[in-house]
Amino acid sequence: MNLDYPITYIKGVSVQKATLLFAELGIKTCNDLLNFFPFRYIDKTQFYTIKELQPNSSEVQIVGKIMHVKSVAQKRGSRLVATFQDATGSMELVWFKGQKWIKDSLKVNESYVVYGKMNYYNGSFSIPHPEIELATEYKNKLQTKMQPVYPSSEKLTNSGISNKLMRNYIQSLLQQFFDGIQESLSPEIISDFKLMHKREALLNIHFPKNQEHLAKAEYRLKFEELFFIQLQLLRKKLINKTKIKGFVFQNVGPVFNEFYADKLPFNLTNAQKKVLKEIRKDVASGAHMNRLLQGDVGSGKTIVAVLSILLAIDNGFQATLMAPTEILANQHYIAVSELLEGMNIKVEILTGSTKTKKRRTIHQNLEDGTLHILIGTHALLEDKVKFLNLGIAIIDEQHRFGVAQRSKLWKKNTTVPHILVMTATPIPRTLAMSVYGDLDISVIDELPPGRKEVKTVHRFDSNRLSVFKFIKDEISKGRQVYMVYPLIQESEVMDYKDLMDGYESVSREFPSPKYQISIVHGQMKPADKEFEMQRFVKGETQIMVATTVIEVGVNVPNASVMIIESSERFGLSQLHQLRGRVGRGADQSYCILLSSYKLSPEAKTRLKTMVETTDGFKIAEVDLKLRGPGNIMGTQQSGVLNLKIADIVKDTQILVAARNKAISLIQEDSNLSKPENSNIKNAYLKLSKASEIWSEIS
Ligand code: ADP
Ligand code: MG
Repeated sequence: MNLDYPITYIKGVSVQKATLLFAELGIKTCNDLLNFFPFRYIDKTQFYTIKELQPNSSEVQIVGKIMHVKSVAQKRGSRLVATFQDATGSMELVWFKGQKWIKDSLKVNESYVVYGKMNYYNGSFSIPHPEIELATEYKNKLQTKMQPVYPSSEKLTNSGISNKLMRNYIQSLLQQFFDGIQESLSPEIISDFKLMHKREALLNIHFPKNQEHLAKAEYRLKFEELFFIQLQLLRKKLINKTKIKGFVFQNVGPVFNEFYADKLPFNLTNAQKKVLKEIRKDVASGAHMNRLLQGDVGSGKTIVAVLSILLAIDNGFQATLMAPTEILANQHYIAVSELLEGMNIKVEILTGSTKTKKRRTIHQNLEDGTLHILIGTHALLEDKVKFLNLGIAIIDEQHRFGVAQRSKLWKKNTTVPHILVMTATPIPRTLAMSVYGDLDISVIDELPPGRKEVKTVHRFDSNRLSVFKFIKDEISKGRQVYMVYPLIQESEVMDYKDLMDGYESVSREFPSPKYQISIVHGQMKPADKEFEMQRFVKGETQIMVATTVIEVGVNVPNASVMIIESSERFGLSQLHQLRGRVGRGADQSYCILLSSYKLSPEAKTRLKTMVETTDGFKIAEVDLKLRGPGNIMGTQQSGVLNLKIADIVKDTQILVAARNKAISLIQEDSNLSKPENSNIKNAYLKLSKASEIWSEIS
């Protein structure tokens, strides 16, 4: 018997039911069903005493006696209440339906076994409509196992696939195919980590003998799941390193050196130096660089990108820098051009709004090699954009680009150019391990000197007047102010209205000519946006009213106040990004989070976190806990997170253990060819065949 057989091979599973299970749950093979795990268990192996009950415990089983039974009148009709008592205390059993029949059948002063979901109200416990059985009868039935409860859907339930039927299917499956379950871990791992064997673990995850067995089964299956993900990521990284050849940037030549000696406007921070060293080692190694650079907003990633680009140029290569928005691409273009002024290096920008004639020149100069650096938006991914010899591609704010877009960059030269992806969205370590485990990761964990921490406060809308007063004071000191309104795609019209209402009231409060206001939003033409943006950059306007388009990258050091309207509607990482727009100059900066009084518990946590810390990694951890890994930027498309049993947030320790084990295994036996690793190899090959995600480019 082979677990790859379709589930119709299981006794009792009809073609029609199999079709339904596939449509609703994606279950096709016996193996799929075997790995379809319960999400909870009904535990009838345990008995509780009444004293032990906790307000949070849900389903309990208790032995006791019914002392008396009475009918209690209520608003509509009545309820039947039985006082139930054991040696430790008493509680109530309650029925709303079938009262007469139940009342007649209950025997006072006899021992009963009662099972059900408890309620806790006014300091006492009750169980409505319990399962109830005379203790003498209960003893005749064997109830030694915990019962699994499987995820289901309305359609399945309506079509007769009840939980009981699922249980039966899986029971038959285990009976028929038990011998076909192969151990997937090596004897060494099993003994080192004291793991349950695979067969026993699968048996106990579906039909646990008791809580302890269940815990061991869970641990084993979680370890296995995380271990194989790590193994695959690490092998992919190894293969990239050994099989994909990379250009060798052997020389640190005149361009880099001249820039470093004469043009660098500040001393690099130690963190920047460390990262640069890591990059230099990569690009000199002959292997292909595929590196993720994480650094909080304002940590100075741009200069690292520029220095990497200069290395490429010194070795006769071209470079490209891709940003997610036109505004950001423009800023990079201006910054890079200024930095490289007076050097013999040609920089161009290519975006959606580049004119055709200009475009042609760019295409030509790229192909004849006279253009060294191309900065742009995804417009530079077009097939028409061909490089003579692209050596390095840098992607800013990588989470804004999809896998397909990134893979286009890989193909811009016959040998894959070195790839550096930069992100200001810190990714918690455990998540990075799982999602980007195949990339090398560098972190800039230090801000340039002299930065003052942005002071952050939360104010309710009713305090708006004092906030306006504060803004006026800051403007009178020569500062500039952002006022950001939420933008949620589902109701663009509403958001637009909110923004315009806001703009009007701000205009009334800050009248011209004393005050000048810029406005930027998504419905404006790029040229108009740019115009407004530039007025603010040049200091012609003091207030910038905007939607979240200013979220990424924009750099106006004189802007020191960030007001976020309806801040309860923003996600944590977005709030953090927005706050990063201020605190870039020498002045004390402020972030004011405005909200209504109505706040969900999660919104409260978000705002509180923002007020308490400016550490992007701490914020990312909270965000991960609030939203779960699937919603964190950049992870949606990774596919690595379709975990069956492990939980990236809760199972951190298992993850780290599994990763370390995978690392040492790869060091000792990278091809899994040693006989003692044959279990692992077989399981690995099967998994790799089943999932395509492993062939994708990060
Ligand atoms: P981000 O990492 O958010 O892209 P930037 O590269 O835009 O940050 O840098 C933010 C600001 O800090 C820029 O004005 C930049 O010139 C400045 N900066 C970067 N590195 C340093 C440094 N080592 N010392 C002083 N200022 C720096
Ligand atoms: Mg940046």
